Amino acid sequence: MHRSSKWRAGFISILSGILVSGVASALPSNVRIIPPGTTRFLAGQKFDLRVEGRGTGPFSATIAIDGVSQDFTSGVQASNETDGISSAGYGGFNLRGYSDDDAGIHTITATFSDSTGTVDAQARFEIINPFGDSRPAKNIIILLGDGMGVAHRTAARLVKYGVTDGQPNGYLEIDRLPGTGLVTTHSLNSIITDSAPGMACYATGSHSNNGQEGVYPANMINPFYQPRMEYMAEYLHRVRGTSLGLVTSADVEDATPAANAVHTGNRNAGTGVCDQYLDESDAEGTGVYGTGLTVLMGGGRRWFLPAGQFGSSRSSSTDYNNLPADLVAAWHLPSSGALDPQRNLIQDFINAGFAYADTSTALGQIGTPDKLLGLFGYGNMNVALDKMAKRRNTLLPGTTTFAVDDYHAPDQPLLEEMTQSALQVLSRNKQGFVLMVEGAHIDKQSHLMDADRVIDETIEFDNAVGVARRFADQAGDTVVIVLADHECSGFSLIGALTGGITHLRSLPPDNTVLDPAVQPERQKASIIGTYDFAAFPRYNILPDGYPETFDIDGKLLVGYGASGDRYESWLMKPLPIVDSLLPDDIKGELRAHGYSDIPYQRAESRYGYFIRGQATGRDQAVHTASDIPVSAYSTGPDGPNRVYEQFYGVQTNTDVFFKLMRAALGGFSQ
Ligand SMILES: [Zn+2]
Repeated sequence: MHRSSKWRAGFISILSGILVSGVASALPSNVRIIPPGTTRFLAGQKFDLRVEGRGTGPFSATIAIDGVSQDFTSGVQASNETDGISSAGYGGFNLRGYSDDDAGIHTITATFSDSTGTVDAQARFEIINPFGDSRPAKNIIILLGDGMGVAHRTAARLVKYGVTDGQPNGYLEIDRLPGTGLVTTHSLNSIITDSAPGMACYATGSHSNNGQEGVYPANMINPFYQPRMEYMAEYLHRVRGTSLGLVTSADVEDATPAANAVHTGNRNAGTGVCDQYLDESDAEGTGVYGTGLTVLMGGGRRWFLPAGQFGSSRSSSTDYNNLPADLVAAWHLPSSGALDPQRNLIQDFINAGFAYADTSTALGQIGTPDKLLGLFGYGNMNVALDKMAKRRNTLLPGTTTFAVDDYHAPDQPLLEEMTQSALQVLSRNKQGFVLMVEGAHIDKQSHLMDADRVIDETIEFDNAVGVARRFADQAGDTVVIVLADHECSGFSLIGALTGGITHLRSLPPDNTVLDPAVQPERQKASIIGTYDFAAFPRYNILPDGYPETFDIDGKLLVGYGASGDRYESWLMKPLPIVDSLLPDDIKGELRAHGYSDIPYQRAESRYGYFIRGQATGRDQAVHTASDIPVSAYSTGPDGPNRVYEQFYGVQTNTDVFFKLMRAALGGFSQ
């Protein structure tokens, strides 16, 4: 990397798609061009360029695109001082808000110099033209079952519909969508993605590092300063005037919803994430910037309450301010942010024209406002199993309280109810909309190895798919895709319970067996029926659409290929694990009530035996690298009604973005 190309054997190394050569021995290190060399963009899609390196200042750099020299919009030009943007020891030069209209491959050539010498770098990007003469899809609905692999879908189908003589008694809404394929699930820096780049790659067309949403990796002092790329919602809001809706069963600051609208290198910076939702929503309707955010629903009230109030998580340390001036200018932002832990963000949303609902009842009475904010819990919302227990007024076995009451959120809507409300509000925009609906606990409960809560959430998510499909049928010109960001836990259906649930409950407790070397009583009892002994589980589905109970004779049993340590009882777990995304006030209360923080400590280990985790120690199960299934549907007279065919086969995860944008901009006639 530090050899001169003059001295040829011409030693040239290619690292991450960057061609590097140089001329001296010290030289700046870690020189790179951002975005990385395999990135694709839409014609006109905005993104930030950066040339950075590590060394001894003063720093300087040059950049040219297809041989045409470009001016940076910021960077240290001739000083040894930090620029207040780059990390200590780094120099960086930025070209914010660039875009290119010419389809094809483009070459970036750059130099980066410090006091010891100069390093050359080269990268490429590709521009894809999404425009054409086919009839554009007006609305795009992305339903993301977080962590949902094939087995999650199969489990929900088996539980909800059952099988008779080898024939399924019914199919899920997801199963009945016509266009199904597979999607790869890697991020920029790993074969195993987390939810931030996992969602963002569908919403931007670019890969990012794990933990990052709407930005490229860069050595900068603040994750909110990192180089941006334009989101689907921003692009369509700018060129077509669309609205954005985000609906999730998670905390709204969580990675999946944020990775449609928020630009940050730190998915956990919740105060800044939630502030940016509003501050970059283009509430004034200028059409020159922002997402057009019109609906935001889920949990996460903690980020909207002034610091110091019960349930607030707002802090300066998770906020941002002083966005670089060239970033603000290039992206036409209305402000550079502020450290304001005392901000009343609910009131600010209301002042910007949002109606606010804090319960399911309030949501049902809110009508069809212009804009809608719904915050139905302090952190993540509860799962269907716990929401339905309260609605049925039937305590789960082994409990004395309802989890939703303990979570200070007794009246929470179901995902399909939020989806229905969101579609009513969004469909008022004649220019169309982008709606993302997330079933978050398919992932979260898989991490916690709580199969019954996983399967109930998958059924809830599938009901939201049905709402979206019916909307597409009625409204026309709508594309619906259902997919995941990655698989979670190596979820697998290993068989069914033999010997019956009464027998299982009668087995002697193992809770004194804390030595993992002791033979597990459950396995000795041969309760896992494989092959023929699994037969066909049959659950009693109540009129509300969910199983009366998961503890039935012949219960479906789930194993985890990417597990952490746990005690497995095969019975319903009375209490959910304390959710990691809750304000500290409520976490403390739950622990005092006997809730556990990790699966290994689950209070109901009375019936359980120890299973050694494969992927982690006494922690959660983890994401896997498996491809995930995508199912698609589309309506409309010409182009849109065939868009689903574009999702057949195996595709790279970033392909999904370009397919959806071609659908939205008529590009399938090319
Ligand atoms: Zn995820």
